[in-house]
Amino acid sequence: MKLKIRVLLLGVLFLAGCGQKEPIFTQYADTAMGTVIQLNLYSTDTESAKNFSKETMELLNTLEHERLSWRLETSEVFRLNASAGAEEGFPLSEDLAHELAACLDVWEQSEGAFDVTLGAVVRLWKIDSLASGETSKEEFVIPSHEEISKALEKCGSEHLQLVAGDMVTGEAAEGGTRIYLPGGMQIDLGAVGKGIALSEIEALLNNQSDISAAVISAGGSILVYGAKADNSTWKVGIVNPLDTSTSIGTLVLDPSNWYITTSGDYERYVEVDGVLYHHILDPATGYPAESEVRGVTILTRDGLLGDALSTACFVLGVEEGLQLVEKYDAEALFVLADGEIVMSEGLAEESADAKFIAE
Ligand code: FAD
Ligand code: MG
Repeated sequence: MKLKIRVLLLGVLFLAGCGQKEPIFTQYADTAMGTVIQLNLYSTDTESAKNFSKETMELLNTLEHERLSWRLETSEVFRLNASAGAEEGFPLSEDLAHELAACLDVWEQSEGAFDVTLGAVVRLWKIDSLASGETSKEEFVIPSHEEISKALEKCGSEHLQLVAGDMVTGEAAEGGTRIYLPGGMQIDLGAVGKGIALSEIEALLNNQSDISAAVISAGGSILVYGAKADNSTWKVGIVNPLDTSTSIGTLVLDPSNWYITTSGDYERYVEVDGVLYHHILDPATGYPAESEVRGVTILTRDGLLGDALSTACFVLGVEEGLQLVEKYDAEALFVLADGEIVMSEGLAEESADAKFIAE
């Protein structure tokens, strides 16, 4: 089946906010981090909403330029990658230290299915830049087994050392954590960058007295924030990975802050001779992950965690994926290749604060 790449609202179809009178509902859209950012704001003052949207885009651009980009020399991740092999390691900012520690936790709990040290293999496949049109399909070359196994030698969170101190001098690192990357290792935070950004936007929203509720989407990651004036539930439709013009049903969420993240093989991929090469890689093989899952949506209270779990669950498949989300008290909804929908127990409970209603 041939599926079209859709840029807008990867994975999740947004249904919230219709017919709201008070406060005023405003919408903004822009691009950042290679994806569309949509801001849906409920604000008592349109000027505040406009200023907030500007501030949010500035935040996203700063985050990309100063911390997360693997391409821009100005960013911390770029400098960290450039330090690979350095005996003295690299001193991490408090934010990145915290984020990498969270990623390592999911790596451990997922038994390696989620791994931010996959940069060397991700760059080899170049599926993201092909899917986004940055490079043409003609330039796509399936890497050889040899290339993949060579690149895989430079991957693996088990080779990372994250220490609160200087291993060379034995002195405690002043005010921070130091990381030691083996030569050639490249960190890639593509799987969690948007979740990190949404958590920072949540913090920004907490300081906005004029904005009572918001739905912010960044590609396949969505933050639902606060409560609408009538305190009604949020409704978020889930796109059918087998036919992205349709929905498989709706998540109904009590008014509160939620992160809804979707990972799938139907948005960023390249098709060659009928074979679909997508961008979520199995760290065990270095090839696009193969499981019965076409799309998985995670519901959590934390942006990075939701993003990491959706990637991990796509790699792990249903059985192990459900075990993983349970460890983090998160909920998951899987859409399988045959159209079957499997969800964690919490989403099926009638009294739950988050429910899934099938179409
Ligand atoms: P997920 O489905 O959650 O994960 C897939 C992504 O995570 C892959 O793209 C890869 O980067 C990585 N990954 C793959 N397998 C694993 C695994 N097993 N464990 C951990 N990580 C894995 N896209 C553009 O087209 N152009 C840009 O200029 C651009 N700039 C960006 C800048 C930033 C700061 C960020 C965060 C993203 C940017 N992107 C850009 C998008 C990026 O290339 C990825 O496509 C996107 O982040 C994938 O999001 P996702 O939620 O679909 O990924
Ligand atoms: Mg993810």
